[in-house]
Amino acid sequence: MSRFDTIVVVDWSARAAPSPANPSKDAIWIGVARDGQVECFYHRTRSAAMDAMGTLFDAELAAGRRVLAGFDFPFAYPRGFAAVVAGQANPLALWAELSTLVEDAGDNANNRFAVALALNRLFPGIGPFWGGPEAETGPELPAKGTERHGHGLPEKRGVELRVPRAQPCWKLFTTGSVGSQALLGMPRLQALRRRYGAALSVAPFEAGDTPIVLAEVFPSLIADVIAELAEPDEINDRAQVRILAGALARLAPEDLTDMLEQGDREEGWILGVGREDDLRAAAMQSDPLDVAGQGLQPPPLRNDCFALPAGVDWTPVDEALGFLQERLAPVVARGAVPVAEAGGRVLAEDLAARRANPPHPNTAVDGWGFDGANIGAGPQTLTAVDGRAAAGRPYGGVVPPGSAVRVLTGADLPQGVDTVVLDEDVALGGGEIAFHGPLRRGANTRRAGEDVAAGALALMAGRVLTPADLALAAAVGHGHIPVFNPLRVAVISTGDELVEAGDVAGPGQIYDANRPMLLRLAARWGYLPVDMGRVGDDRDALRATLSRAAGSADVILTSGGASAGDEDHVSALLSEAGALQHWRIALKPGRPLALGLWDGVPVFGLPGNPVAAMVCALVFARPAMGILSGAGWCEPQGFDLPAAFAKRKKPGRREYLRARVRDGRVEVFASEGSGRISGLSWAEGLVELGDDAQEITPGDPVRYIPFGSFGL
Ligand code: AMP
Ligand code: MG
Repeated sequence: MSRFDTIVVVDWSARAAPSPANPSKDAIWIGVARDGQVECFYHRTRSAAMDAMGTLFDAELAAGRRVLAGFDFPFAYPRGFAAVVAGQANPLALWAELSTLVEDAGDNANNRFAVALALNRLFPGIGPFWGGPEAETGPELPAKGTERHGHGLPEKRGVELRVPRAQPCWKLFTTGSVGSQALLGMPRLQALRRRYGAALSVAPFEAGDTPIVLAEVFPSLIADVIAELAEPDEINDRAQVRILAGALARLAPEDLTDMLEQGDREEGWILGVGREDDLRAAAMQSDPLDVAGQGLQPPPLRNDCFALPAGVDWTPVDEALGFLQERLAPVVARGAVPVAEAGGRVLAEDLAARRANPPHPNTAVDGWGFDGANIGAGPQTLTAVDGRAAAGRPYGGVVPPGSAVRVLTGADLPQGVDTVVLDEDVALGGGEIAFHGPLRRGANTRRAGEDVAAGALALMAGRVLTPADLALAAAVGHGHIPVFNPLRVAVISTGDELVEAGDVAGPGQIYDANRPMLLRLAARWGYLPVDMGRVGDDRDALRATLSRAAGSADVILTSGGASAGDEDHVSALLSEAGALQHWRIALKPGRPLALGLWDGVPVFGLPGNPVAAMVCALVFARPAMGILSGAGWCEPQGFDLPAAFAKRKKPGRREYLRARVRDGRVEVFASEGSGRISGLSWAEGLVELGDDAQEITPGDPVRYIPFGSFGL
């Protein structure tokens, strides 16, 4: 059987009037898990909810996707009921019969009590249905369950005997009012059966290999986990549908199929009964994202994302950076990985603490724990109780006032203990401990949540996860972490003059120096470098290589051929594709920068000169790729230091000089030639000179940005 693409969980409601306009409890909530995300919807009436459900089912069917929809009311009654009401022991025949009896208007007004009364009349004695407002109850529909007798039906279905919290379906009023929910629910499901015909089946009554499957669910099966995973202040019904939908979506398909096949053809079944641990485990998997194993794809970039304003001749660096920052967006899919594998990955969502750290008050030292309320100054004596508390091995008893218990570092504080005295400060003998007061109440203990409170923001989306981040995520209860897939960076060198490093260079040939540099930059920034090799100054070859690169990477870095000359094929091709933006940036070294999209993949056409290629990669490509990767924009941090050089600079463009710091002063490389690769290697950072004219004399402050600030 194929897997489900979408899981829907519905928290049903038997209200007789529309629910409040603002999302509130005891109303209809629908959780929809699809494409790795769970969304929750609130509906004020049963009609509105069913309309929404129909729209969703239609869209999913049209897209060839399979849906499991779970509803939290009984799909059947205890054995014997259907045979009397519908003439056969078949719950689906009963649904059809109830559809003819139940009236349920668009505003939730309904006749459920009248229907219950009519059904009671089909059975001997009083009952089985009971409960209702005073005006609706009477001898044939008693107000109290105890007033029933002789109707001959079991109180509960078999499956309900296994689920202690399940309310009986005969009860129409107050807490749970499961009886009313079922009476108003089954006819609605019958309407879905009519609408979708052979495309829909109902578990466990029918063979289930259909595009739509309906099943009975009961979120309270995993109430403990729901309580733990609910967001602070989240409406319980919302938490229930959200968490159960996510859990069902994360179950292994074969487990879910097994669960759907379980159950009784007359009394039905609650999905997952007996398999609660599997449901819990699936709910606890932290990622709501990796559901289909393929993550969530971001929307494509807009074709005009690199457009510069018309008529501008030289764009200042900051303006150019502003455009990139504004127009780019993450291009990588999201997934989820085990916490131990998440180092260096980009966090795709804010991570809230699922539990406090520390989760319980515990002791920070080895020593003796007691109630610190009555510890005054001077000598103190307390009775030593038997047993001890160690990390992971709590002391089960209560420590009475006047007594103390041995505690070891990391142990949860036993009941009755809020203060710990250090081992070294204690004398032990005759079943007592003695030490000198005073001791601050709470001394040597750690409060629950003193590091991180449950529900608090632990890590912000966009972080490149550090080793310490992994420790934090694990400590606050995350087993899997939602991350962006690593950005794949294709690197292409262009130029007829280039030969591969180490090969024999003929006349007029030089070694390809940019490619190893750019590939390593990509790797240093945590991306996946994709080596696309060299291409000569040949438009067709370059076209083919760009297309291959676009097929295997998320961003493409080229070097060379980015100006507007005869052999500048990167520019020519991007412009042929209609997606070229020639960025004439007021920058030295650098200037020609061709930006564009090739098959929807952003291309950074860097200059060929290695110095310019590297400076443009650091200044433009790096922050842009930060956004594309999901990590967000990054500003390299620099600081002012006295110059060890003199320089006169013209206005109108920004300049970067290869630099390093010695004896607290900034030195620059002797030559500014942009082919001087030795200077790049010599440098440990860049000096950034602003767009205005400058006359720098030794000792003047200049802005130095170490390569470390560029992520190197
Ligand atoms: P272009 O931008 O193609 O006009 O190239 C500008 C200069 O950079 C020329 O001197 C090229 O030979 C040189 N150049 C281009 N690509 C590379 C490369 N991959 N490695 C070293 N030098 C290069
Ligand atoms: Mg060239």
